[in-house]
Amino acid sequence: MHEHGDATTDAALATWVPAGDPDFPIQNLPYGAIVRDGETAPHLAVAIGDYALDLGVLARAGIFDALGSDARALLGGSSLDVLIARERAMWRSVRSAISAYLRADTSTRNGELAARALVLRRDARNVLPFTVGAYVDFYSSLEHATNLGRILRPGDEPLLPNWRWLPIGYHGRASTISCDSSVRRPHGQIARASGVPEFAATRKLDYELELACITGNGIAGPITAERARESVFGVALLCDWSARDMQAWEYRPLGPFLSKSFATTLGPWIVSIDALEPFRRASRAQDPPPLPHLAVEPRGAFDIVASISLRSGAMSSRGEESDRVAEVNAGGLYWTIGQQLAHVASNGTTLRAGDVYASGTISELDPQNSGSLIERTCDGTVPLRLSDGTTRTYLEDGDEVTLAAHARDPHAVAIGFGSLCARVI
Ligand code: CA
Repeated sequence: MHEHGDATTDAALATWVPAGDPDFPIQNLPYGAIVRDGETAPHLAVAIGDYALDLGVLARAGIFDALGSDARALLGGSSLDVLIARERAMWRSVRSAISAYLRADTSTRNGELAARALVLRRDARNVLPFTVGAYVDFYSSLEHATNLGRILRPGDEPLLPNWRWLPIGYHGRASTISCDSSVRRPHGQIARASGVPEFAATRKLDYELELACITGNGIAGPITAERARESVFGVALLCDWSARDMQAWEYRPLGPFLSKSFATTLGPWIVSIDALEPFRRASRAQDPPPLPHLAVEPRGAFDIVASISLRSGAMSSRGEESDRVAEVNAGGLYWTIGQQLAHVASNGTTLRAGDVYASGTISELDPQNSGSLIERTCDGTVPLRLSDGTTRTYLEDGDEVTLAAHARDPHAVAIGFGSLCARVI
């Protein structure tokens, strides 16, 4: 067993499911909700290799009855809401039961039930697997905040005085979070030189590469960062779509509003916090030391490399691969998940089941490795060249954005978050 994981992350574990997508070994088992071809109702599932394991089929067959009298309600419904609201011990029991079902040495292999429960992921689509409670978007990358400060306030100190004292964030719009495969270009107010704004389609549609944690069982604040992280159910990719021209006009003095609220895309698979344990790292040094209520977690960072790929509509129609446009390590984020949550709860607020807390854009100082186009193209002044010969300042209609992320450690089996893929329409 790995020193920082439990039996479900043991590198020696193998599954009877045929080898496939390396994002999804038996050590991962991320949760999602799938709609199988020809059906309309979502089923809960975990990703394994090239397949999704339909937990609804297994729960109704009684496979998980040993978990308790409510086992069928936990996994047989159309969302994770019942499971997320439970305590961490139950999350671990469920994960162990699924892991046990998939282990190579179990008797389930090749059974008729297993054949019904395994569905090729290309024969299903993912939908949002839980009811979103609150949605908060943080701003926890020192490099992103520095890059953006330089672009938005040239000549000034790029970081505002509060940045190193608290995890800056704002409440976003929970109702427009989805797992949709497209994003519609929004209309809004855009400043003009005349002083009278126009109402028009954004000309500066951007992505923001983020990771989001989803909280479970409610905890009332105030709480420590160590305690806060016990409420984390899992982590998923998140794309915070941003209309920069609308944002520039509306954001003073209260921050982003309609330039962000039109759509936020969540990745299809939620990697449980227990699957991420082997990839915990020492937290980044913080200067100045945070106030006591935000005391740093010693091992609050995760070694997760995330990437963005882009392809034009023309490249898609010719079947060409996407261009990798950035790769960043989330282990470098300044504020940890535990500190973010401790901050949210520090005024007495409760962390609720199904809340989504996004990291903020993950960037490195080199614009080549930044999680947004506003950084990558320096607000459109340094165009990005795609392999089809066209250039981008911001996203064009037909462009397809793909986010991916992987956690690695020399002593653990690497795991991935799948692909968050959405096209601009
Ligand atoms: Ca953001």
